[in-house]
Amino acid sequence: MAKIFCIANQKGGVGKTTTAVNLAAGLAKIGQRVLLVDLDPQGNATMGSGVDKRSLGLSVYDVLLETASVREAAVAAEQCGFSVLGANRELSGAEIELVTLERRTERLKGALKAADADFDFVLIDCPPSLSMLTLNGLCAAHGVIVPMQCEYYALEGLTDLVNTIKQVHANMNPDLQIIGLLRVMFDPRTTLQQQVSEQLKEHFGDKVFDTVIPRNVRLAEAPSYGLPGVVFDASAKGSKAFVQFAQEMVQRVQAM
Ligand code: ADP
Ligand code: MG
Repeated sequence: MAKIFCIANQKGGVGKTTTAVNLAAGLAKIGQRVLLVDLDPQGNATMGSGVDKRSLGLSVYDVLLETASVREAAVAAEQCGFSVLGANRELSGAEIELVTLERRTERLKGALKAADADFDFVLIDCPPSLSMLTLNGLCAAHGVIVPMQCEYYALEGLTDLVNTIKQVHANMNPDLQIIGLLRVMFDPRTTLQQQVSEQLKEHFGDKVFDTVIPRNVRLAEAPSYGLPGVVFDASAKGSKAFVQFAQEMVQRVQAM
């Protein structure tokens, strides 16, 4: 029932969290029931949805250790129209604690199965590493959304991620596929970005989403108000692009 997507890229600062919270808000805006799972101990997706990571009763940590269900631990991001399974620093301990446990990469998958009927979309914001936490995300997901900036080294960085996804696909999760590459923080006036964008389309064809997210200061300002850009300023260019991306995702899911 629920389609589950990881937002992943092993590089930091490429726009994963911005994509996760704004896609969640965009999907909610067009009537989808959305759960946003924060798998990054930094808790940026949690805070960026208006949920205070310091006062979380239960979090994704409890879900991974199977001491709470998704239903028990998720909270409403009230202004945003979606639910959040939050994270904070406690989650960094899970990395070590999971190592000795059974089914250590399938904890999130199992937990989400129990909440399957509650949501149309589950979006998982991954940390910038290929860690046990990210593996839990990849094992649970039907697909991966890869946000990327059109920079010189962008293609090179993709190789590691593509190989990891291939390995997870072969050994742990036969459902897993790259849904698409999302061009973010795009500045059409930069020739290099246009060139890399063309290269991406040559290499990856249909796997490159049609929607392009522009560099837009309102998207960068929104987190300090504890809101996704889509909610903070719906009229901003970047916000409109994310709503358009939400529509593109709904279409892709229908074709899956
Ligand atoms: P990640 O989760 O991959 O580390 P973030 O989503 O936190 O990346 O983004 C890194 C920084 O770039 C943040 O300060 C964010 O506000 C900013 N940013 C992300 N997307 C955009 C955009 N389209 N336009 C302007 N700033 C952006
Ligand atoms: Mg992040």
